[in-house]
Amino acid sequence: MAISPAMRALIQAPDDPIGRQFIPDPAELITAEHESADPIGDDALSPVKGVVHRYPDRALLKPLLVCPVYCRFCFRREHVGPDGGVLTDAELEAAYAWFAAHPAVSEIILTGGDPLMLSPRRLGAIIRRLSAMPHVQTIRIHSRVPVAAPERLTTELAAALETDTSIWLAIHANHASEFTAAVRPALRRLQLPLLGQSVLLRGVNDSVPALEALFRAMIAHRIKPYYLHQIDAAPGTARFHVPIEDGRRLLEGLRGRVTGLAWPTYVLDIPGGYGKVPIGPDYRQDPGTVRDIHGHRHRIETPSR
Ligand SMILES: *Cc1c(COP(=O)(O)O)cnc(C)c1O
Ligand code: SF4
Repeated sequence: MAISPAMRALIQAPDDPIGRQFIPDPAELITAEHESADPIGDDALSPVKGVVHRYPDRALLKPLLVCPVYCRFCFRREHVGPDGGVLTDAELEAAYAWFAAHPAVSEIILTGGDPLMLSPRRLGAIIRRLSAMPHVQTIRIHSRVPVAAPERLTTELAAALETDTSIWLAIHANHASEFTAAVRPALRRLQLPLLGQSVLLRGVNDSVPALEALFRAMIAHRIKPYYLHQIDAAPGTARFHVPIEDGRRLLEGLRGRVTGLAWPTYVLDIPGGYGKVPIGPDYRQDPGTVRDIHGHRHRIETPSR
């Protein structure tokens, strides 16, 4: 387990929205029937160590498995940890060679673990190598550091992330209170386009007011909510599970009341490695009708082909 000082300061009780995310619970020792150590089938999709390739135009690079905090609901909870998983120089070279041999992969997504736990020197070296590949158009970094350990977003880190390649930062946050006063100046130092990703979690953000506050906090920090994830079925995570029907109703509760900027796509990573798909809510009823935000049905006349 690990809880960063920034997150520790927010915990008033083990069962509050921040405590629940990071404090171990005996319920984690029980693996439910539908749970798996590799819930979205990543292992079978790894051509070389540290690389996961599921979609034609993009692939993951996991340079390390260390995180600033260890989230109890993490889908990689069987893999991440403080004792390692940093790719050696030789393993990184093998990953670069794989990317160089796959020109269709135009986006490289740095994840882990948490890439912003690398030193600016190491991260900068990775960014430079990837940027030098002519077919790499986009580098995306997924990280919990901006909320969990904002003090790591230094000017040295900002310099390490400087590249002419399009570079995006996707920030993982699940509760509005994670946006402490240190987050805004830390993000301003980076000067990157920012996306938000969250997991729908029982007892953390499974209410309309909690989701509204979370997405509004993101917008206030120039972060565009990107994905709201249905939780992946990693072992011992059942206590966080919110049924998909409830998730759809929660999002319906936001529609129309909250700026469209704050609306994420609710996604499920289909167990077994079949990829992420949007899971609603869906306002189209049948080919001829839509529902409005109050639930009233309307016929729509669309010209036929
Ligand atoms: C989630 C994921 C991605 C990124 O998917 P987007 O929908 O582009 O955010 C890429 N590769 C793998 C293996 C993934 O699991
Ligand atoms: S920071 Fe991300 S990878 Fe690390 S434990 Fe949390 S959810 Fe898992």
